[in-house]
Amino acid sequence: MTTNESAPTAFQTARTLLKEIQEKFTVFGDCQPLAIGIDKQLIAQMPDVSRRVLRMALGMHTNSLRYLKSMEKATVRFNLDGTEADAVTDEHRAHATATLKERFKKINIEVELGFTAEQAAQEVQRCLNCDIQTVFTARLCIECDACLDVCPVDCLTITANGTETELRARLKAPANNLQQPLLISLPLPQTRRVMVKDEDLCVHCGLCAERCPTAAWDMQKSHIHWPQAQDQSCGAPAKGSKIA
Ligand code: SF4
Ligand code: SF4
Repeated sequence: MTTNESAPTAFQTARTLLKEIQEKFTVFGDCQPLAIGIDKQLIAQMPDVSRRVLRMALGMHTNSLRYLKSMEKATVRFNLDGTEADAVTDEHRAHATATLKERFKKINIEVELGFTAEQAAQEVQRCLNCDIQTVFTARLCIECDACLDVCPVDCLTITANGTETELRARLKAPANNLQQPLLISLPLPQTRRVMVKDEDLCVHCGLCAERCPTAAWDMQKSHIHWPQAQDQSCGAPAKGSKIA
């Protein structure tokens, strides 16, 4: 069993800050092209913010699919208060297009080369990002389908609830591995349908969380805890048992 990490990493802190900024400033919430020097405008409004965390948050925002897609077609940049700033240059539009093209080209790229067939078979048994989990909060989902569109392996489906057999056959990519339980959410607020995820296919790329406008999908780090001698002395479960 796993639990989420209690102390936030710099990545999580930056992500929390970004959510705060997106809620507070419409230019961020709507992913409008940002004025050059927007960091200084933010610091003026949030003087106590850590410059390092802010840089990370801005990097996440401006490298997100939504922002890059917005930049591809943009003609003008915006200040933090929503007033118009400089024009978007052809060069910046072309950069956004090239970045998106490169990103989608890399989705199927091999990350390790040089294995024999036997070694490759062994390697694919392990997850390269197994401590980062997708976490879904049904009450936040507005059923916009953005996560379904972006998932590179079609492991997400929003559908009417049903028996497991019915659901398995109804998924975008039918879930044929019966050993792997499906994630089935609570009823979604708008239509009472459910979000179903086939964990067997998920590659933990995080694109669903990056794309989700409401943070219904989130990527969270988790730990597996094994009892140690110190835990035993504190009244932890008996030797050899696992605790969450
Ligand atoms: S993490 Fe990637 S593969 Fe997994 S559900 Fe999200 S988009 Fe799909
Ligand atoms: S999880 Fe997020 S991206 Fe997916 S349908 Fe719900 S609101 Fe849209």
